[in-house]
Amino acid sequence: MNFSIADGKNPCYPFLKSLSLYVHPMNTKTINELFRRFQMAMPVPETELKYTNTYTLLIAVLLSAQATDKGVNKATKALFECADTPQKMLTLGIDGVLDYIKTIGLYKTKGANIIKLSHILIDKHNGAVPHTREDLEALPGVGRKTANVVLNIAFGEPTIAVDTHIFRVANRTGLAPGKTPRAVEDLLQERIPTPYLDHAHHWLILHGRYICKAQKPLCEICPIHDLCEFSSQTPHTIAVQC
Ligand code: SF4
Repeated sequence: MNFSIADGKNPCYPFLKSLSLYVHPMNTKTINELFRRFQMAMPVPETELKYTNTYTLLIAVLLSAQATDKGVNKATKALFECADTPQKMLTLGIDGVLDYIKTIGLYKTKGANIIKLSHILIDKHNGAVPHTREDLEALPGVGRKTANVVLNIAFGEPTIAVDTHIFRVANRTGLAPGKTPRAVEDLLQERIPTPYLDHAHHWLILHGRYICKAQKPLCEICPIHDLCEFSSQTPHTIAVQC
């Protein structure tokens, strides 16, 4: 059974909800320092999803819902070699698409959405991926999170797609405590200094994926340990490199 992060039926919801109750929101000076360190460590962070053009980016992001980037990349390598445009995807057909993506969770629904979405791109957008949130979210299988990723990566807009990693990091650190992904997104947009907004999405995802992990955050090697509101509960064994 699938639950959204903010779903009250989600067994983890009491925990997720509680995350925002014990942290103090970070102050502006600390937020600036946090992103200065992220930028120093990785000046231009990039998505780990593999894609060859805006259309394949959209397909890869759609497939990545409730799946790992690694698993998606494994499946899409051969798919995108065969079909990297809406027309080629339609030529491949639903059975052909499903054959390539069958290792990915919810592949039947995702495959059907890829075919419907490709039809719409050809019929309404001359085969191109639209630039607006409204048009993106009108596509089958494309919600706010997917639209935010495409707007950020393909069109350079300072959007932030709040996935499970960003939700956790924003709440634990005190950067943007909130009870729902949308509340966290709005607060991040408000609190992240403009010069850092373009890359904030990727810095936060990568930090959550590799350092501030869900079960066992690696606080002892975390480069923002001294800035984090959660850190008083955790050890730290290395000096922060600034
Ligand atoms: S100190 Fe720990 S909880 Fe805080 S951001 Fe780092 S890894 Fe996450």
